[in-house]
Formats: sequence, structure tokens, C-alpha cells
Amino acid sequence: QSVKLVVGNWKMHGLSGALDQASSLSRALVIDAGAIRVGLCPPATLIDRMRGVLKGGPVELGGQDCHAQPQGAFTGSVSAEMLADAGARLVILGHSERRTAFGETDRDVAEKVEAAVAAGLEPIVCVGESLAQRERGDAVAIVTAQVAASLPDSLTERPFAVAYEPIWAIGTGLTPTLEQIAEMHAAIRSAVVERLGQGAGRAPILYGGSVKPDNARAILSTPEVGGALVGGASLQAEDFLAVIRAA
Ligand code: 13P
Repeated sequence: QSVKLVVGNWKMHGLSGALDQASSLSRALVIDAGAIRVGLCPPATLIDRMRGVLKGGPVELGGQDCHAQPQGAFTGSVSAEMLADAGARLVILGHSERRTAFGETDRDVAEKVEAAVAAGLEPIVCVGESLAQRERGDAVAIVTAQVAASLPDSLTERPFAVAYEPIWAIGTGLTPTLEQIAEMHAAIRSAVVERLGQGAGRAPILYGGSVKPDNARAILSTPEVGGALVGGASLQAEDFLAVIRAA
């Protein structure tokens, strides 16, 4: 299995003062080469300035979304090229908050993934079921269908990650059991390989949803968990460091 990837998603949090957290994180983080990768996805407004703060350190920067077109008359949108130009190497795509609050479909997500790959970014493609879908017993079918429809052909032979984020676990303090996580990650692995071939078998599958310092070690040592996508616990350097050290 490839090196673990732990990524912080700040969502719509972070003014200039939050750059201090990125700076503390970067200074405190000592990474053995090849042991782990750490990413931070602040609001787009902070990416360029955070690049300055993180310079020379091990933390990789990412965006939280991008438009499917490289430029154009799309008021308010940010393209993958713009994120890359600002210093991003990663981009989160298809987060459930985008799918739910902004109506993004698997097809929209696949188009954004294509744009990200064309701009040289490494996409982190998010999938996950709702509580109702889990209770109906449909979770694996829903999530593997999202995987198949959200990963475009252009990902073949390119670096990317999938993030399994059950919607009901995001920001709630709830998490699936380790058995449920292992079952879903194995199903996602099969769906990725079926979709893109054996070459994609090394793409890390991250878990996201209420990852905290006290549950990170157990989750990150579950089979097929290749890292974590961390919301609330990535906002403070101390918490995020504790999660990273558990990986
Ligand atoms: P929390 O870690 O705050 O539950 O958020 C998870 C998430 O949505 C990361 O993308």
C-alpha cells in the first residue's frame, strides 16, 4: 500500500489570522521521507499566502473545489488552473456539501476531476452515503456507483485519491464501526480497480467524517484506509498534528 495521505479540509473557515495555524503546523511537523503525506485545503483566498507560510515545509496545499472549465464567463468560480497557479497541488472534488448544497452530480464531479488532472492537480474524489441510505442497507451500492460515475478515464495512470465520507459522520461526532469502514473501503477498492484497471489499485482511499485525535489511530490502521480527510480537527494545528501522528 502507498504512503498514508492525511488532508485537512478547512471548509469555509479561515481569515488571515488562521495563517498562524498553518505556520505552527509546518514548523512542528517532522516527516520522514516517504512515511506520510500531509495536505491542507484552506479557502481559495488563503492558498497563495499559505504557500509563503509553508515554503520549504512538508505540507502540500490544496483547493476545496474547482470549475470544470479552465477560464471563462463563470462569475464567482475558480478554475483548477487558478488553484495550481496559486500553489495548490491537490483539490478536493465532489464533497458531499457540494453535492448536497450545490447540486453537484457524479457527472459534474467527473468533469471537474478531468479539469483538475489537466491542470496537474491531484484530485481527492469524495463519495459517501446518507443516513437513510445506510439504514436501508444501500450504502455499499450507492457509494460504489458514485465511485464508478465520478472517476473519468483520464485518471488512468494519474495520481488521485478517493475519500469515503459518510454524510451522517461529518461534523456529528459519529463514525461507522471499524468493520463498516473496512467493508466500505474494500468495496471502493474493487470499484476503483474495476473502473480504471489494476494500475489504480494503489490510489489511497481516505476515510473522512469526525476523525479526531482520539479515534485517528484505530481508523487509520483499519485495512484499506490509506489516510484521512479531516474537517473540524484540522483547524487547530495541535489537533491536526495529533491526528497526523496517529497515522
Ligand atoms: P469533520 O472532520 O468536521 O467531521 O468533517 C469531515 C469532512 O467533511 C472533511 O471533508
